[in-house]
Amino acid sequence: MCFNLAEGPRCQLCEDQRRDTGLICVVEEPGDVIPIERTHEYRGRYHVLGGALSPIDGVDPEDLKLSELFARVENAPADAPVREVVLATNPTTTGEATALYVADRLRTSAPEVTVTRLASGLPVGADLEYADEVTLGKALAGRRAL
Ligand SMILES: [Zn+2]
Repeated sequence: MCFNLAEGPRCQLCEDQRRDTGLICVVEEPGDVIPIERTHEYRGRYHVLGGALSPIDGVDPEDLKLSELFARVENAPADAPVREVVLATNPTTTGEATALYVADRLRTSAPEVTVTRLASGLPVGADLEYADEVTLGKALAGRRAL
């Protein structure tokens, strides 16, 4: 269902009934699930795309598990709707392109679903003086009220 690595038809996280089915975190690779799980900040489900969009390298939407993701969101049962899709693709050109593609599609096909993107910003313990301008710029753009 989520295309994470699994021994049976569903992975351990999809089998876990305590996890929130209304939240889907979209990642590029199965290996990306592990660091997110380690934070203990996320209690929803996952969707592993199997890569990121990169037309130059010949990776088009049909090469990733995108239609399966849209089907999960759009065809969710009325008593267990998907409330939020968290885009946790990498903060790279291809990861950003993939996140924008998913957000664009869901805005039209599932406008009731909140689409979020992981904040990108300064590493914990960093000093502003030494931050690169791209990272600092993203941290500024993604600032939030305290
Ligand atoms: Zn799964």
